[in-house]
Amino acid sequence: MKKIITYILIAANSLFLNRSAEKEDINNDSTRTIDLCLAYENDRDKEFEEALKKANETLKPYNLKVELKEKDPIQIPTKKQYSHNDLITGIRNSCTDTLDHYFTLMTGDLSSKKTNQYIISNMRNKTTIIDSDCNEELLEKIIVQEILRLFTTKKEFVLTEENMQEYFKKISEEKITKKHSKQFTKHTNEIEKGKDRTLTINMGLDNVSEETARRLIENSSKNYYENFGIKLELKGIYQTPIGTKFGRDKEYNNLIDAAKEKSDIYIILTNQDWSQFKKNSYSTPIGQAEPYKGFCWVETIHEEKMVQGTVNHEIAHLFGAPHVYLKNAVLTPQAHNQQRWAPGTRKVILQNKYKTWNRY
Ligand SMILES: [Zn+2]
Repeated sequence: MKKIITYILIAANSLFLNRSAEKEDINNDSTRTIDLCLAYENDRDKEFEEALKKANETLKPYNLKVELKEKDPIQIPTKKQYSHNDLITGIRNSCTDTLDHYFTLMTGDLSSKKTNQYIISNMRNKTTIIDSDCNEELLEKIIVQEILRLFTTKKEFVLTEENMQEYFKKISEEKITKKHSKQFTKHTNEIEKGKDRTLTINMGLDNVSEETARRLIENSSKNYYENFGIKLELKGIYQTPIGTKFGRDKEYNNLIDAAKEKSDIYIILTNQDWSQFKKNSYSTPIGQAEPYKGFCWVETIHEEKMVQGTVNHEIAHLFGAPHVYLKNAVLTPQAHNQQRWAPGTRKVILQNKYKTWNRY
C-alpha cells in the first residue's frame, strides 16, 4: 500500500519577510542557480543525479537551475525511530556550510505509526531528508517541491500539479530578488586556526602502562596540532585503579583528587571492558565524554588504532563537537578508528579552541 505523503516543516524561515521593502530585482532573464549538496547512503546518488536532470527540465522555463556542488557519502546509525534533530545535526555537520540546500538520501525508514512520512524538511537548516521508500519517480518531484519551498513560508506544503503551476507563476511574477539569493546562500567562511593553544591533561590509569598513555597523547597531539593548532600536554599521570565497579563521577573525582596540579581536561584510560554498563545505546561506546566537566574515559582493551581514534573522538566532544554521519569521520558514532575530520567538526573545534572548563 502506498503511504500517504505528509510533509513536516520544522522551522519555516522568514524568507519572504520585508518583501515590500525589496526593490532591486535581478535581471529576470538571468538564471538563478541553486547550489546543492547530496549526502547519501548506498548507491542512490546516481539515481538522484538522474532525477536532478529531470528536475532541471521542469525548472528551466522559470529561469531556475539546480546544480550539484558537493557529494558526501554518509552512514546513519540504524535506529528503530529517528530523532529529527539528531538526523539533521549529524548530516549538517558532515557537510560544508556554504551551499543553498542539502538533500540526504538515507537507507532507513523515517515513518512511525504517528507520522507515516518519508521526508523531513527543515528549511532553517537547509536540509531535506528522504528515506528509502521514496522511489526514483518521486525523487524528481521532491527536488522540485523543495526548491519551490525555498520561495514560500507555508508551513505544510505538498506539491500537486495545481499548486506547482501556481507557485511557479508566483515566482516568475514576483521575480527573484537579490535579497532572496543572499538568504539562500549563507556563506560561512573557513575559520582560521588562530593562535596555538596548549591543552593540558591529567591522566588517570586503570591497569594501563604509562608508556601507552604517553604514546596515545603524543599521537593525538600531532593530529590536533596539524588540524587545529592545539597541542596536548600531559601535566600528570596517576594510578587510579577502578576495581570492579565503574562510576563516571567517582572516577572523575578520584582523578581530580589525585592530581597535584589542575589541568584543562581529565582523561581516564581503563584496561577493562565496561560494556555491561553501557546499555540503551545504539552502539557500544568504548569511551565517553562529559563536555561540561572536561572529562572523558577510554577503554584500551581494543586494538590501538581504535583506542587512538577514540581518544581523538572524545577530546573533540570535550570541545563541543557533536556526532557526524560522514563516512570515515572521527566523529561518527560507531567505529572510532576513523581519520577524517568532517567540516562541521572542524568548525566547532576551531570555534571553541580557547574554551575553558570551569570546575567548582
Ligand atoms: Zn561520541
